Amino acid sequence: MKITVAIDGPAAAGKSTVAKEVAKRLGYTYIDTGAMYRAFTWYCMEKGVDCQNEVACCALIPEVTIKLRPNGIVLCNDIDVTREIREPRVSGNVSYIASYKDIRLFLVDQQRNMAKKHSVIMDGRDIGTYVLPDADVKIFQIASVETRAVRRYDENISKGIECTLEEIENDVRKRDYIDSHRDFAPLRCAADAVTLDTSFMTVEEVVLKVIEIINEKIALKNKDE
Ligand code: C5P
Repeated sequence: MKITVAIDGPAAAGKSTVAKEVAKRLGYTYIDTGAMYRAFTWYCMEKGVDCQNEVACCALIPEVTIKLRPNGIVLCNDIDVTREIREPRVSGNVSYIASYKDIRLFLVDQQRNMAKKHSVIMDGRDIGTYVLPDADVKIFQIASVETRAVRRYDENISKGIECTLEEIENDVRKRDYIDSHRDFAPLRCAADAVTLDTSFMTVEEVVLKVIEIINEKIALKNKDE
């Protein structure tokens, strides 16, 4: 049975950690849509284009190809940008890029195609509301801004990415603000999503909860067939 799972939520809520692990345990394909916006941002910066200049950034669409490899490698025009897209300079600009409608339409088209063939678990900001409105399971994963900042800080330090906790907290607040206030497909909880506040949950607890929700959905679908 083909299942689609959407996980949305604010920055650094642990969506990708959970989505990756659930995908591994259930044999689904994991799609990190944030990585696609980040790769586009990296490209604009490489080209020396101001990320706050919508016209100039959108003009680059025809020359950008982004590929997500199953092993987590992210390629932009066949260059491995997996590490670069996590750097604070990219995080600081990605929400501008993600607010441009033409860039969203370009990337959403690819995201929908990726979800056509296999069971997928896709994380982002607008998956349940816009990219896959008919997803079988929709999760809105949240945590307090302080918890999220500490988690992202620890993650960056473990990857050798230099940053301070204050910088991360400011970045998380800024991105949440821009992501939830943009006109086109803003960050929203879908009406039919299950909200999971993970502030006091371990990763394992969240993973098990998501799998439980998916299994309930599969049981319902089996009953209907
Ligand atoms: O998920 P991640 O934090 O890597 O996403 C980086 C940025 O990409 C977000 O802050 C948001 O601006 C944008 N994004 C988005 N829609 C998505 C996924 C990410 O606008 N579906």
